[in-house]
Amino acid sequence: MNTSSGGGAPRTEAGAFVVASRAFRPAYATLSREALAARVARARAELAACRACPWACDVDRLADEVGVCRTGRYARVSSAFPHLGEEDCLRGWNGSGTIFFSWCNLHCVFCQNFDISQRPSGHPVPPERLARVMLELQALGCHNLNLVTPEHVVPQVVEALAIAIERGFSLPIVYNSSGYDGLSSLALLDGIVDIYMPDFKVWRPETARRLLLAPDYPEVARRAIAEMHRQVGPLVFDEHGLAKRGVLIRHLVMPGLLDESRAIFEWIASALGPDAYVNVMDQYHPAGKVLERPERYADIARRLDDVEHEAALDLARRAGLWRFDRRVPWGLTPRPAPRSPDPPHGD
Ligand code: SF4
Repeated sequence: MNTSSGGGAPRTEAGAFVVASRAFRPAYATLSREALAARVARARAELAACRACPWACDVDRLADEVGVCRTGRYARVSSAFPHLGEEDCLRGWNGSGTIFFSWCNLHCVFCQNFDISQRPSGHPVPPERLARVMLELQALGCHNLNLVTPEHVVPQVVEALAIAIERGFSLPIVYNSSGYDGLSSLALLDGIVDIYMPDFKVWRPETARRLLLAPDYPEVARRAIAEMHRQVGPLVFDEHGLAKRGVLIRHLVMPGLLDESRAIFEWIASALGPDAYVNVMDQYHPAGKVLERPERYADIARRLDDVEHEAALDLARRAGLWRFDRRVPWGLTPRPAPRSPDPPHGD
């Protein structure tokens, strides 16, 4: 049943986005063993002449060649742990089982995770070991598996997931990306990922060129997010408020770039519909190259203020959006210490 939003666009009632937890099965539960094996074969073929993301480097990663993402045969993992700092609908009370992959296929000058994305960190982790990390996060009681910055390691993730699923892995999978995703990688994940959590960072190609070093980012992100939405639809929760399936879009509001925020919100509302679930994030702080060279990036070399964040939320409402990320009053447990996975030589 539809009602009307403040902006007049049709919208669905909140209750329509709830599924019973006992009725939920992760997307991959319906994939046969043969279908999963076929995905692994496609993943390995992708690595042999890599076009897994929009850079299309065409390097042989099976032979450990590297392209723009600096990642060869194996995914590098910086850390893996039950994360209590993610959205409440993901962290719940036991944490989101987060794997931070090292390196990135984007080189944002303001990256909030600069030390992981653009500095050497972590270890190369073969599929067998990566599968064990996934199973360990499940054994710790995490509500989901949260793959952070996975755009450049989708083939390796698919290889590992096939092993983990064979050994009893059963958590919903969260694909937590920058939005700079290749359609071939998203095709590999179709029917495997339950929750897509892409960023939509900036709107104008000139801004993307200056701050992300990738002028095609807005176009790529639009295409990728539309495909994610086609696969899993709007975000749905269980009766406890945990996200189960769908798209959660993150938009980090940047100082002085509210016109970009407006264009992004308007696109989301028109392309995905007003029921799209959005986290309008306020935690921007100068980092990475912005910190190193503040004179060059003077316009974004400051924190966001509350007025700007409120203004961004208002723009989102005016665009017709109404489902915004919100706090859930969980009883929080102490935050577990991050840890790096064991080096891979034990495999
Ligand atoms: S995943 Fe890495 S090697 Fe493959 S196309 Fe993208 S940047 Fe290039």
